[in-house]
Amino acid sequence: MIAPTRIVVLGGGAGGLELVCRLAGREDCAVKLVDKVSTHLWKPRLHEFAAGTVNSTLSEMSFYMLAEMRGFHFEQGAVVAVDRTQKSVTLAAPPAFEKGAGRPERSHRTIPYDILVVALGGVTPDFGTPGVAGHAIRLDERRDADRFRDLFIDAMIAARETDRPAGIVIVGSGATGTELAAHLRQAERAFFEKSHAEGQKRLLDLTILEAGPVLMPGASESLRKTVRERLDALDIQVATGAKIDAVTGTEVRSADGGSWPADIAVWAAGLVGNPVLKDLADFEMDRKGRIVVDDRLRSTVDPEVFVMGDAASFTPAGADQPLPPTAQCASQQADYLGDALPQVIAGDEPEPFVYDDRGRLLSLASGGSVGLVGLFRQSDILVKGRFAAAAYNALQRQHQWAVLGPLRGSVAIAADMISPTGGPALKLHG
Ligand SMILES: Cc1cc2nc3c(=O)[nH]c(=O)nc-3n(C[C@H](O)[C@H](O)[C@H](O)COP(=O)(O)OP(=O)(O)OC[C@H]3O[C@@H](n4cnc5c(N)ncnc54)[C@H](O)[C@@H]3O)c2cc1C
Repeated sequence: MIAPTRIVVLGGGAGGLELVCRLAGREDCAVKLVDKVSTHLWKPRLHEFAAGTVNSTLSEMSFYMLAEMRGFHFEQGAVVAVDRTQKSVTLAAPPAFEKGAGRPERSHRTIPYDILVVALGGVTPDFGTPGVAGHAIRLDERRDADRFRDLFIDAMIAARETDRPAGIVIVGSGATGTELAAHLRQAERAFFEKSHAEGQKRLLDLTILEAGPVLMPGASESLRKTVRERLDALDIQVATGAKIDAVTGTEVRSADGGSWPADIAVWAAGLVGNPVLKDLADFEMDRKGRIVVDDRLRSTVDPEVFVMGDAASFTPAGADQPLPPTAQCASQQADYLGDALPQVIAGDEPEPFVYDDRGRLLSLASGGSVGLVGLFRQSDILVKGRFAAAAYNALQRQHQWAVLGPLRGSVAIAADMISPTGGPALKLHG
């Protein structure tokens, strides 16, 4: 009998986890997922974890539980290197605190593979701006959201006690920054003395700073106008043309002398590849630190190493830039590799990956919903009603379905939908 092909997937995020769940249980491969943390988090809700407004119990799930349920192997550890010659992955030694606890010192681990899939995601770059690393929060992973929420609760309690509103300044007017601001306005209500928001004095000043000349550069005029109206209604200030050159413990400063007092500063400007990617091996990298792949999502230097999601730089034929870093894209790539890898194992050449842009949707849920189909495309259509919010939720439900499987997925999703909390004030992104 031929031994199953060892497929190792690095990173169990929006893309990696869907892929292992698709491949698990097949007889032609043995699937192993590696992640540095023990739980899978649906990253598009990270700002909701930060604001404390997340209302889906399925937004975070244990990898250990999923591995047993779906039939793949899970190995927890931080990936630090790939040896393409030996075909192995190196995981860092466990953190030093274990030694202090009197446990024997443990060294790094190596995991062999036949086919490797890199799905290690991306991070928010600081562009070398002084003070960002020390004073601003970047929402890249769960612990960032937890740290933000601790600071936020502290600032809100102080605001209530001192009668001085807390100032939160968000740098970057993209979807993450805009959504976070709206969620924080919603979260503010929890700190009012009375249970209703009407007539309450503000506890929170919210400001979004954008370096470009307009809010959400790259979005269509109609979308910008709609978002701006919604932000105005939520009493969220927006300053454009603010090129930030420093963040301190008390303020955010722009190059032309502007200054915004900040009890908390959030840096939400752009996305680049996970910094570990450039140190893994000798992969070809693009200027945003992502691994360049061909139209079968193979790294350009090694056909046995595939890359997907935010870690991959894939430019479709005829396009002038790589695909966007979205969960929608990562999920389509997981679907593709779920079919393509068994073909590779069988010795066949899979068809190329074709990205189907299903539109990106904006949901401004409370006080009149508005949605946009085909955001950032020529054919943008502004739609009204609950359509956009429903479509956004559909992306996560589809993910949960892929991860949990049809039977458990249906039951768990039905239970998750009976939620006591209301929906977000504004939901943006694809
Ligand atoms: C606030 C926010 C809102 C968003 N909203 C949307 C949206 O509405 N729609 C949409 O389409 N997209 C949205 N996105 C983008 C979307 O979340 C990402 O494009 C998507 O998660 C990328 O999936 P991925 O599998 O490539 O990586 P990720 O989902 O980021 O997963 C990467 C995984 O790798 C693991 N990892 C990282 N480093 C290591 C290491 N060294 N060793 C081991 N494991 C490691 C991480 O723990 C993580 O599990 C949003 C992003 C943010 C931050």
